[in-house]
Amino acid sequence: MLTRRGLMTGTAVIAGAGLVGAVGYRALQDREPAAPPATDPSGRLLWRNWSGIQSSYPQIRAAPGSEDELASLLKSAPGPIRPVGAGHSFQPLVPTSGTLLSLDRMSGVLAHDPATLTAQVKAGTRLGDLGPALAAIGQEMPNLPDINKQSLGGALGTGTHGTGRGLKAIHGEVLSFRLATASGDILECSADHHPDIFNAARVNLGAFGVVTEATLKNRALTRLRKQVVLRDLNETCEDWPRLKAAHRNVEFYAIPFTGKAAVITADVTTDPVIPRGADEDTSTLMDLKHLRDVFGFAPPLRRWVADKMMSGLKPEIMIDEGWKLLSNERPVRFNEMEFHLPTEAQIPALKEVVATIEARRNDVFFPIEVRTIEADDAWLSPFYQRESGSVAVHAHYKDDYQFMFELIEPIFRRHGGRPHWGKLNSLRAADFAALYPRWKDAMEVRKSLDPGGRFLNPYLKKALIDV
Ligand SMILES: Cc1cc2nc3c(=O)[nH]c(=O)nc-3n(C[C@H](O)[C@H](O)[C@H](O)COP(=O)(O)OP(=O)(O)OC[C@H]3O[C@@H](n4cnc5c(N)ncnc54)[C@H](O)[C@@H]3O)c2cc1C
Repeated sequence: MLTRRGLMTGTAVIAGAGLVGAVGYRALQDREPAAPPATDPSGRLLWRNWSGIQSSYPQIRAAPGSEDELASLLKSAPGPIRPVGAGHSFQPLVPTSGTLLSLDRMSGVLAHDPATLTAQVKAGTRLGDLGPALAAIGQEMPNLPDINKQSLGGALGTGTHGTGRGLKAIHGEVLSFRLATASGDILECSADHHPDIFNAARVNLGAFGVVTEATLKNRALTRLRKQVVLRDLNETCEDWPRLKAAHRNVEFYAIPFTGKAAVITADVTTDPVIPRGADEDTSTLMDLKHLRDVFGFAPPLRRWVADKMMSGLKPEIMIDEGWKLLSNERPVRFNEMEFHLPTEAQIPALKEVVATIEARRNDVFFPIEVRTIEADDAWLSPFYQRESGSVAVHAHYKDDYQFMFELIEPIFRRHGGRPHWGKLNSLRAADFAALYPRWKDAMEVRKSLDPGGRFLNPYLKKALIDV
């Protein structure tokens, strides 16, 4: 989120707010959500996703160390077989009562080519480990998501993306991948080998098989100048087309109930390094939470206080290699809905979302993230043949998130949005079929690879088959 040193701390306002907040009714609601039991009645261990809303008790947990091990496991493992990366998806993609399959032991860079700037990477590699590994060979991924905790396989599974005009999501830079199928075969897939599988399963939800490695088209290691500036929200919306054209990476966070936006840009530079300071996003976010806790009942007052606290903030600048700057730490857990919209619908949809939240949901305090992503040609990519503008709404993990389905999702759908595969949405197979021109082809490929549906958990059956 926005990182503004001393956004609120030290001000007389927040001191007073702290006092009032201590007795605020919100404090009474600030409770840990109930956790499922650590084991089920038959002693199976609990698995939970990052935000805590998805869970299951797998019968088997496996972490093969090689393709051979994986292939023989797949032949007999009880279904549903669900690959898991870092468990950072919000949708129930991973939960299984059968086999939970981690690729944590299959990680690292296998080979690279300095001439073509490509690297062959094992699918269990976490993006945070890939950054320094690629830097050591003079390469970097062209773009990165907001965090780098994901595994490569998990990022490809859901169409994980960063932001920047002309910059594709991670799967958009995949030249080939290897897929372990339900029958235990290992297929090398690219534009030349098994092109239909390559097109259908570059974004795959772990429903086509298990990706064991991918060859990535990278670029030469560069230095970026990242800047964070607080601006007026309406002015930022007006300026968005220019901002997208002017910067390599650009996004903004609309801060509800404040009329402000934190605009984050990154551009290639050769200027000397200005290292990234300690993470301040978390305290800033908590300050926004306190503001909600204390003044949530009175939006005009909330806005007035926010204005006082944010005035005079200086831009924040850091200069370093991209892999050190583009992703962030997000220790405060949340639940999230993100849709990818036709570019012309992005700002109108955002304005409706902000207006709806400000009219109906005083409890929301998380900034709303606005990004831009280049089109690609993977059949299940939310960016399939469509440059997209994304809008993402978050709720603190202790807060209600159902409002997203009731109030926010209809806005996104009316504007022709395709949901992020890993983030909250209520769409089913028929809905996806209407949004994805090559849906039927992709589903035929999936069925041919896994006719018995051994990779499908109950959610995937609804999302892909609609039973
Ligand atoms: C704090 C936070 C920040 C985020 N920021 C962004 C962001 O900036 N941009 C964005 O696009 N998304 C973002 N996400 C969403 C996240 O990137 C995706 O949900 C991603 O899929 C998570 O990766 P993972 O390794 O945790 O995968 P998991 O959630 O564990 O799995 C995701 C899917 O991939 C499948 N899978 C995993 N490994 C394999 C494999 N080897 N072969 C086949 N299938 C596999 C799983 O079965 C599942 O269907 C964020 C999530 C969080 C919690």
